[in-house]
Amino acid sequence: MNIYIYTLGCRLNQAESESIAERFRNAGFTLSGWSDADLVIVNSCTVTAKAEQKARRMIRRFAERSEVIVTGCYAELGRDEVKALSERVTVFSLKEKASLLSLPEHISSAVHSGLSLHDAIVSFTCRNTDLFAFDASSFQYHSRAYLKVQDGCDNHCGYCRTTIARGPSVFLSSDEVVRRALEIEARGFHEIMLTGVNLTMYDHEGNGLGGLVEKLLAALGGGMRLRLSSMEPDHVDDRLLETLYDSRMQPHFHIPIQSASQYVLERASRRYSIEHVEYIIRRMRDAKDDPFIACDVIAGLPGEGEKEFMDTFRFLDENGFAAMHVFPYSPRPGTPLYGARDRAEERVRDERAEKLRKLSARHSAEYIARQMGKKLEILAEEGNEGTTGNYLKGRIILPHGRVPVRGMIYEGVVTSTDPFELSAVL
Ligand code: SF4
Repeated sequence: MNIYIYTLGCRLNQAESESIAERFRNAGFTLSGWSDADLVIVNSCTVTAKAEQKARRMIRRFAERSEVIVTGCYAELGRDEVKALSERVTVFSLKEKASLLSLPEHISSAVHSGLSLHDAIVSFTCRNTDLFAFDASSFQYHSRAYLKVQDGCDNHCGYCRTTIARGPSVFLSSDEVVRRALEIEARGFHEIMLTGVNLTMYDHEGNGLGGLVEKLLAALGGGMRLRLSSMEPDHVDDRLLETLYDSRMQPHFHIPIQSASQYVLERASRRYSIEHVEYIIRRMRDAKDDPFIACDVIAGLPGEGEKEFMDTFRFLDENGFAAMHVFPYSPRPGTPLYGARDRAEERVRDERAEKLRKLSARHSAEYIARQMGKKLEILAEEGNEGTTGNYLKGRIILPHGRVPVRGMIYEGVVTSTDPFELSAVL
């Protein structure tokens, strides 16, 4: 039987989709293109209206040929709307998502005993409601392990629907995180990415994410690298920033800044000052040699006039981000800013987004060019491909045409930046 998985949204969704795919592959299913698939799983996102539109368009298309399971944040908030797209659609809420890990066995035995695929899916009982079920065993075929330590968010940023879909912040106990990390290490991984919806909101027994990272670094061996998926500025404190000086902390950071205008940040109920963001960036650059610092920015938020936009543009230009993820603002139903009238008209918003994308392309190119001749570590992935500590995708060139071992870390000198290549130092 053929299966296709279509993913929208964040890195957490991507990682969870990969794990689900592996479970299906293990159970004898074939991962195919969507046009050959008997079953399509859509892991959806609600962050923008565009992401939802795209999900609807694709679900309709998939349902013309296949059974479709829809999960993720949009499925959570728009259950009825999604269900109404086709009779072939079955919705799994966020709580039921982890059950998809055991769905392949159920389908195999139900179809074997004569049920149609549709009946097999609707007869499935979701028993696994653990938000943290995607553990080490579900990442066994990946080069790096993703360890989800937090879910949900207690902030109610004016534009964000994620917090409505995901609910309040919850997290794994630090002992459980360490136990899972040690299990991952024992399986032979060399890199763990800590993930969460709002990772820096992690706060077990008042120790924050900084306390958790300290505990992990103390427990893990010298060969294990740690990477943080994203750092919301409001909970980034000195304790967390101090941990970045450990060489196992990878020089790759992502900060959802959204705007560099204090007025716009306050209008969107973001709880930090732009001075705090500057401080975080300064500490990151102090802790690491030319780290890859990426950010999210939203063009056209309510309250963003020409002056506020230029403040943001200048800030992003002066701070030289290696990558910027630019989102044109779209009002989301149910959010505090939904009815705001002081937002830029769409044409202006899109022009601003375009300017930011061009700025991002320039800074990315400069960042990559600066890597020439540097000695970097790179984690081997598919074939000769890999990802460096500072999160650049590149080719690993080994002597005598040898192929790198997946999951291994190599040290190499950057010998070309276009295409990005490292010659391994052995
Ligand atoms: S911090 Fe704000 S933008 Fe991020 S998930 Fe929470 S509410 Fe949404």
